[in-house]
Amino acid sequence: PSSEASTAFTLTPIGRIASDYPDKFGIPRQPGLASAARATLTLAPPFDDPLTVRGLDAFSHLWLTFIFHQSPTRWTPLVRPPRLGGNAKHGVFATRSTHRPNRLGLSLVELVKIETHHGVTLHLRGHDLVDGTPVLDIKPYLAWAEALPEARSGFAPAPPPSLPVTFSATAEAALLRRRDGDSLRELIRQVLAQDPRPAYHKNAQNTSERRYGVRLRDVDVRFHPSASNGIEAMHVEDIV
Ligand code: SAM
Repeated sequence: PSSEASTAFTLTPIGRIASDYPDKFGIPRQPGLASAARATLTLAPPFDDPLTVRGLDAFSHLWLTFIFHQSPTRWTPLVRPPRLGGNAKHGVFATRSTHRPNRLGLSLVELVKIETHHGVTLHLRGHDLVDGTPVLDIKPYLAWAEALPEARSGFAPAPPPSLPVTFSATAEAALLRRRDGDSLRELIRQVLAQDPRPAYHKNAQNTSERRYGVRLRDVDVRFHPSASNGIEAMHVEDIV
């Protein structure tokens, strides 16, 4: 390799994400799949000068580049996209895998509001980032240049199928007791519709007796496959 190619760059996060997703498990695989997911991005000094975001509120959507900080630094040339059931192998650069050289992530998110009273905090929706994710850069999204619906999209030509989601009476009662009940119900619906069970469980027979859990905001959502080939949210409990 030439000396130029082997030059290492040091990148400093400009801020961190606080997210509706406390764990990696259950997060939809791309940002638009759960539009109800909320996050804040708080900028760190010296990037927290309000001048850095002057004019940004004129944009509805942003690109975030970030580090998959919860992924191993180890990577392999071939990965198994979950979208293909974990069976087929594709080149790491032919996928959006989190196990990649440099661990760089790229997500298109909705910008809801910017707060500049104490430093800078961006309020975001429709993201796919775990709590604590370090963000490297923010760029405004330019729909005229970057939206190409006719582009070929390889093994992921359309959004993944989404399952019908129902709520037990117990889960509904728990949601009704919460101030954020409506937005949490919508988030649970969007996350469970993506069927967050491990791929090898989805295809297995007789799994309806199994119980699964996913953590969203400050709750544990217990769910299972329902009789009608959907998912039922059974319990919504405070994380203890
Ligand atoms: N939209 C981004 C991209 O294309 O670079 C991320 C796609 S990646 C397939 C989405 C998954 O990354 C989520 O389902 C979540 O489990 C995982 N994830 C999110 N934040 C992460 C982090 N900070 N470290 C490791 N994995 C993360």
